[in-house]
Amino acid sequence: MDELRLKLAIQKSGRLTEPSLDLLMRCGLKISRGKDQLMAYGENMPLDVLFVRDDDIPDLVQEDVCDLGLVGLNVLEEKRLELASRGHPARFQQVRTLDFGRCRLSLAVPEGASFEGPRTLQGKRIATTYPYLLEKYLRERDVSAEIVTLSGAVEIAPRLGRADLICDLVSTGSTLQANHLREVETVLESHAVLIRTPLDLPPLKDEWVERLLMRIDGVQQVRESKYIMLHAPRSALTEIRKLLPGSESPTIIPLEGSPDRVAIHAVCRENVFWETLESLKKAGASALLVLPVEKMLA
Ligand code: ATP
Ligand code: ZN
Repeated sequence: MDELRLKLAIQKSGRLTEPSLDLLMRCGLKISRGKDQLMAYGENMPLDVLFVRDDDIPDLVQEDVCDLGLVGLNVLEEKRLELASRGHPARFQQVRTLDFGRCRLSLAVPEGASFEGPRTLQGKRIATTYPYLLEKYLRERDVSAEIVTLSGAVEIAPRLGRADLICDLVSTGSTLQANHLREVETVLESHAVLIRTPLDLPPLKDEWVERLLMRIDGVQQVRESKYIMLHAPRSALTEIRKLLPGSESPTIIPLEGSPDRVAIHAVCRENVFWETLESLKKAGASALLVLPVEKMLA
């Protein structure tokens, strides 16, 4: 492999795959996924993508096989604690928080079981695939419980009599519901993150890391952003500016032939909802137009 090409690890097949690839495409990366299903070659950037199990991503960066990785904070923090327990410092740096892969690591008890705070956990058996994060949670609360480490299908452990409750990833809660479990406490709020090696990279690679970071920032900023245009009476300017969600300094343009009305153009860094448009109209605005923003560079 070319030493001057960046190597980025992403999940091969799972919940993070599609949003990770989408982010990279939006950053302008074109990849060709040849016969080799494990790796894709960046055609327009010196960056190659490795497709692996999400659990292996921190290790690949830790061991300098990859320079970068896109992974869930849950997997990353579990790995960090596991390394620490063996006396190894983590050799990955979290460089960006990403706006996908949102979920939480939570404790859930069987429906009908009572829960009155962490003390309830004393002496219980808790099934999880995140033993290190759970151990830290219990230790910080001075609770001793038995951690039953499983490699999957945690949600059925209580029914099988293998545990009294579970500690597992939740997003909508529908899996818990289907298994008659009730979420009671959050152990970790999670989302995807971009990690990099702490090693100094050759200047060319380093430059591409910086460019990628800048593009990721741009992509994440525009995702929620809207460009809004409207006409308004000059007298209502103050009120209208207050109504524009998350906009800094709008552009105000005189309207030919209507001295008391102006056109306002603004970038709103939050989504613009119907309610906002209705309030703007009430304040005297007309000819309202909301457009998606494609790219932004501060
Ligand atoms: P692999 O085969 O790669 O080990 P997996 O079964 O461990 O896959 P997935 O279920 O695809 O992994 O989840 C990958 C990551 O997505 C999780 O580690 C977490 O960061 C995030 N995640 C988990 N559950 C959800 C969810 N319900 N919604 C969004 N993201 C989630
Ligand atoms: Zn996994």
